[in-house]
Amino acid sequence: MPAEEVFVALGSNIGDSATIVEGAFDALERIRDTRVTGRSALYRCAAIGEIPQDDYINAVARLETTLEPLILLLELQAIEHAFYRRRESEQHWGPRTLDLDIILFGNREIDDSHLHVPHPEFQHRRFVLEPMLEIGGDRFLPGYGSLSYLIAQAPALELHKLGQP
Ligand code: AMP
Repeated sequence: MPAEEVFVALGSNIGDSATIVEGAFDALERIRDTRVTGRSALYRCAAIGEIPQDDYINAVARLETTLEPLILLLELQAIEHAFYRRRESEQHWGPRTLDLDIILFGNREIDDSHLHVPHPEFQHRRFVLEPMLEIGGDRFLPGYGSLSYLIAQAPALELHKLGQP
């Protein structure tokens, strides 16, 4: 099977989130039949939703993989688990040690009970769009428009690229 380009969003707001996200990037490098071809900076972002919680550290990775989407999802969930994420005790929209979401998987549209791709909310999330732009440059996403267009349309959100003044 030819390799496909995949974008994965990383997020954490419990514990030492910057270290957790850096560790998750390293863990992505170890997924079989998969190569990390892009790694964004870390971004600090206010949490979305009604539950009061700490800011998130967010980032995006670009992968090339020959794995099938559901197999990649299992690999990502194993990494979440390794970082002590305990899904049973979490609230929807609540704080989390590590969240890994598949944003795009080649040009595929997947509507499975376990996996929705493109990720149903990505076009509204500046903390996903900005890192995608950083690592991949502007691009046209069929059915959505260009990344820069989506960023211009996305709700305002306090987003700070770490390592920048
Ligand atoms: P969350 O708590 O937001 O990480 O959601 C976890 C659940 O979302 C998992 O059980 C996945 O099966 C499901 N899911 C659906 N679409 C996706 C996606 N594109 N990336 C990651 N998880 C997904």
